[in-house]
Amino acid sequence: MIRFAVEKANRVLVIAHVDPDGDAIGSMTALGQGLAQLGKRVTLACDDAVPARFLSLPMAGEVRRAPNVDVPYDLVIAVDCADESRMGWAYDSLPEPKPSLANIDHHITNTRFGAFNIVEPEASSTAEVLYRFLPEIGVEMTRGIAESLLTGIVTDTIGFRTTNVTASTLRVAADLVDQGVDIAAISYQSLHQKAYSTAKMWGIGLTGMKLEEGLLWTSISRVDMQRAGLEGNPNSSGLVNFLADVDAAVMGVILSEMNDGSVRVTMRTQPPYNVAEVAVQFGGGGHALAAGCTLDGPLERAEERLVAACLTAIRRQRLSADPNPA
Ligand code: 5GP
Ligand code: MN
Repeated sequence: MIRFAVEKANRVLVIAHVDPDGDAIGSMTALGQGLAQLGKRVTLACDDAVPARFLSLPMAGEVRRAPNVDVPYDLVIAVDCADESRMGWAYDSLPEPKPSLANIDHHITNTRFGAFNIVEPEASSTAEVLYRFLPEIGVEMTRGIAESLLTGIVTDTIGFRTTNVTASTLRVAADLVDQGVDIAAISYQSLHQKAYSTAKMWGIGLTGMKLEEGLLWTSISRVDMQRAGLEGNPNSSGLVNFLADVDAAVMGVILSEMNDGSVRVTMRTQPPYNVAEVAVQFGGGGHALAAGCTLDGPLERAEERLVAACLTAIRRQRLSADPNPA
């Protein structure tokens, strides 16, 4: 039982996934605050930097890129990680034998890689899973925890408009708002406000978009990113949601060339289509309607392979949804 593992543990390492989103950072900082409240010594680690829009969350400033290898952690808890590789160097850098590992997540593709697994694919977010889990280990709700959890829920549901939003999600959110959290400020800061360089990247991405059989995609090269003034990972989730909302599109895809030459892919769709199926073919994962993966470069070759896989998926999934099209 994970509850006993937490009770016994003194030094706990919480890891969120690479290229962290609002659910990763919100869940990690909520759990961090909860464990600190229980008197645990907590380290928060993420292989990529915390995006600026989440830095105001409690404990977000304490997130390290890698754990402290001198600390003998009793327990590692992965949050919002669909598989072990999503923890990246934050986990790989731990010396052997590695501490016991717990996995708290909501991805349908989760591989149950922990010794303890709390995986709820029907939950809107890992934050919603934690909302129910934290009281089970004796954590009392605080305004700071509520702020972190609400950030996770608001961002992963794109402002309560994904298909996994249930009455329960809204009740959880209402309870968090009752803690005194400013939901409008959270929505604006974590979802809508964007850097000028991001807006420029949208311009480049939209100019280069291509449409074929309902697949709307765009590729963004390193040169494009330099032109937009972006460094490191582009925050492309806003743009990919925008692409998938275009009426002629059933799938929206962005391919971004990373500094190491690899190509990050982010995908969105609507029912009955499924992008997790495509992501898994390339070693990635996610949800039916939102998924991602990383391909080897060069960008043009990655684009060819990914577009072919997406078009095959669109044709097959369209057919299985309606085997006798008029
Ligand atoms: P995004 O496109 O916003 O990066 O990710 C969409 C969803 O897919 C998120 O829930 C994210 O955690 C998951 N995801 C993205 N990339 C990967 C990947 O490479 N592997 C796995 N397992 N999941 C991914
Ligand atoms: Mn995530």
